[in-house]
Amino acid sequence: MVQGERKVTDYKFATVPAGADRIEAAAGKFSIPDHPIIPFIEGDGTGPDIWRASVRVFDAAVREAYGSKRKIAWMEILAGEKAFKATGEWMPAESLEAVREFKIAIKGPLTTPVGGGIRSLNVALRQELDLYACIRPVRYFKGVGAPMKHPEKVNITIFRENVEDVYSGIEFRAGTPEAEKLRAFIKTEFNKNIREGSAIGIKPMSPFGSKRLVKMAIEYAIKHNKKSVTLMHKGNIMKFTEGGFRDWGYEIARDEFKNLVIAEADLNQAGGGARADGVIIKDRIADSMFQQLLLRPEDYDVIATPNLNGDYVSDAAAAQVGGLGIAPGGNVGDAAAVFEATHGTAPKYAGLDKINPGSVILSGVMMLEHMGWNEAGALIVKGVENAIAAGTVTYDLARQMPGSKEVSTTGFGDAVIAGMRS
Ligand code: NAP
Repeated sequence: MVQGERKVTDYKFATVPAGADRIEAAAGKFSIPDHPIIPFIEGDGTGPDIWRASVRVFDAAVREAYGSKRKIAWMEILAGEKAFKATGEWMPAESLEAVREFKIAIKGPLTTPVGGGIRSLNVALRQELDLYACIRPVRYFKGVGAPMKHPEKVNITIFRENVEDVYSGIEFRAGTPEAEKLRAFIKTEFNKNIREGSAIGIKPMSPFGSKRLVKMAIEYAIKHNKKSVTLMHKGNIMKFTEGGFRDWGYEIARDEFKNLVIAEADLNQAGGGARADGVIIKDRIADSMFQQLLLRPEDYDVIATPNLNGDYVSDAAAAQVGGLGIAPGGNVGDAAAVFEATHGTAPKYAGLDKINPGSVILSGVMMLEHMGWNEAGALIVKGVENAIAAGTVTYDLARQMPGSKEVSTTGFGDAVIAGMRS
């Protein structure tokens, strides 16, 4: 169907809410109506439990912040097991199309179907929609049992490149004709030896992909008054891929943020007393970054890093503050963004109203901030802070918090809503 200039999808499985509006985008800027349509994927396993609690929190925060002026019109789209049952497909094309059309979406965890040839649904979403930055803020919530002595010193936002690197999906199983053909090609064309019978994966990293990710991280640092952006890489070993990432990162900083950033090396050269007049751009080798985050976390605010490093460091940093189960995430591109739980489907707790909804709730905060609805986001953060500080938590946090009161998924949602108002 064509409406004015715009193509509008005819949805077979989803229903577009009436009386609400599409988010529009022009020249990289999103314009958010007061009643935006936002697609959501409930998720598999514990997804429905989590979504039920989370959506109540989102609606309560928007109502509390803006009264009847603003309201989100939720539009369910199918993915994962629910989609497979209804459509025979794990990720129906119309669900991807809905995210493309409505631009901002939120999802619960999805089962990765086991079996040859089926890609991770999460990876598919990121690649199909070119959601090139996986953003993971990591902070401490007072009261959560954390392994660090001073978890409150951790307050970092990780920008992980999301579509390149060894996640590009170009790999060949050991012993296949494809792997052998590639091995022979590399031997004859480049005189490089790969052991016979090896599996081979390709690690593509481009200046384009690296620069746009680092650019987003620097823009975030400037907008949020952060002191530094650290390029985390393994360029001492993988000189052209990870080393390239570092070089391209410095290049974009120099070329596009001239008076707004300063390289750490230049600052050091200026002498010990020199003060940074702008965001400091520095780089660290990946293995050293893990040590630094344990020993001197206060020196790091924003980290920009290739895909695989980012996967590791995001979970490691969240574990440092005891918050792996409540870590939020967002996959963001220039044309769309999908906010999501960072944990899996935890199927053994499905339907028990037991699981922690905190990861989706805090991903919703990221979504609201992305929309510029900061007041609603701040209310939810306040609600989560108050719920945890009062020791009203689900079983997983209760395990780490002696003296706390264990509540259900629904109970935690209620505590967050009450915490917004206290
Ligand atoms: P998982 O679902 O994350 O669960 C592992 C364990 O982590 C759970 O048994 C539970 O620990 C804890 N946990 C996870 N989420 C929690 C929450 N919200 N609140 C409290 N505790 C939580 O990992 P998995 O068992 O390896 O994966 C299950 C499925 O999820 C797989 O199909 C996998 O592919 C998929 N997955 C999806 C995503 C995604 O959609 N983003 C991410 C990862 C995995 P205890 O048992 O100790 O309580």
